[in-house]
Amino acid sequence: MAFLTVGLCPVTTMLRTAHVGYVRAWAVHFVSAVVASLLIVACMIWPAFSSKEVEFWFIVSLIEQVLAEVADEFRHAPLLTTLIIGSSVLGVELAVVVAAMLFAPWGARDESILSSLCHALRRTWLYTAHAPLLILLCGLALMPLWGIESEWRQASRLEWNPPPVPPLNSQNQPKDSPARKEYEQALAEFNVALEAHHDAWQMRYSQRPWLVKYADLLGTGLVLLACAWSLWAWLRSVGAPRREKPPDRPPLCEFCGYNLTGTALASRCPECGEPVSASLGPDARPGPPWQHRAEIGRWRAWWRCTLDALLHRREFGRTLRAYTPTSAHRTLLAINLIMVFVVAWIGVMAVLFVENDWSWPPRNPDAVWYVGLFLGITSAVLALAVTFLAAISVGIGYHVADRRNLMPVTMQASLYLGVYLAIWTALVFAMIAVAVGGERLIRELPLQQRTWVEVGAVCLVLLMNMLLLFGYIRRVIGITAGARYANR
Ligand SMILES: [Zn+2]
Repeated sequence: MAFLTVGLCPVTTMLRTAHVGYVRAWAVHFVSAVVASLLIVACMIWPAFSSKEVEFWFIVSLIEQVLAEVADEFRHAPLLTTLIIGSSVLGVELAVVVAAMLFAPWGARDESILSSLCHALRRTWLYTAHAPLLILLCGLALMPLWGIESEWRQASRLEWNPPPVPPLNSQNQPKDSPARKEYEQALAEFNVALEAHHDAWQMRYSQRPWLVKYADLLGTGLVLLACAWSLWAWLRSVGAPRREKPPDRPPLCEFCGYNLTGTALASRCPECGEPVSASLGPDARPGPPWQHRAEIGRWRAWWRCTLDALLHRREFGRTLRAYTPTSAHRTLLAINLIMVFVVAWIGVMAVLFVENDWSWPPRNPDAVWYVGLFLGITSAVLALAVTFLAAISVGIGYHVADRRNLMPVTMQASLYLGVYLAIWTALVFAMIAVAVGGERLIRELPLQQRTWVEVGAVCLVLLMNMLLLFGYIRRVIGITAGARYANR
């Protein structure tokens, strides 16, 4: 059942498969990967097969041929072939492991860092069962779409008149000879006919059916939806709650990390002198405003978290919970990605506006859609990567320094800094707009100076991005520092 349910109700599926060990989880992953690969091959063969361009036996013989070729390679160079096939399988497996490690902070708890990483890997392997279903659904939706498009193309090719043929060239004829005049006459007729043909074709092309016109956009949208579904289900799988409690911790002073076992709640920390109640009292570490958004209102909670995370990182870190599992911050991932996507789209419009000599609409209005969609999604994917990379790398860094797995906090910290990512995106697009606007000025410079200016601009963009990445990681480190000795 997991093959069907993991995409639709990942949390329930993960709770029901909590007993599945590593070997069996990997087996599920391997079987899913093989079935998914076979489905991709089937989707590629199916259009030719269904339109009766090829016979069933032809496909069988083709597969036989491929297998025979592989067997032949094995006979000639057994070591090299084994290495190539083995390394490509290993490469895919390694990519899955890296992705699982990247998502580990999402489902991490205050436990040993190895348990968090292994847990993410096991659930990622179990989640792979979603791949065959995704590919099957995409194939079922995309193949009719492509079928309609190719049918229209074929039909237009068949019923359409061939383009006019240019007359034979006769340049070696003398200028006033009748043959030369005849050729020029024919050439003029040909040009008129060609233009008419071109116009008629344009007319027909612009009147193509709606589904044919938007086949590419619909296909891209469908694949994107599938990717978003996959990301959602994968993260839900990795972040599904766990039945067993995290291991017990000794009570610590939240300010210096001193072990407060046996110290009275009314007294002070023997090490740093801060009141013990500030570390262990009922009001200590209440959770950030976003965790109480039902009481204080979503909008206010979001603003307060954003400002605190950006401006008062240590104090903000003192409110975050490391031991008690929380999931309030997870909704912010969707909010942050949408925010970055929208900022990037606005950035694309600004760049097109500058490129079009500060006027609207741009020369190519379709670019607003295609370039906006493409760069919007690229920016969102980069923001996703930066969010998780910061969470895992700072988590590992704190583990090396403190021997404590703070990934539950680094994940919250990097998500509460979403506005930082949106500002970063806006700055990148502002730089592109400046570069596009300044291009005309640069073009007037002599070649040598122009090269220098261009190299300088590229270095400046790289430097700015490095500094912004550094600033982001520094903020995640700063917020996490406030939760180093968290008891809750
Ligand atoms: Zn203390």
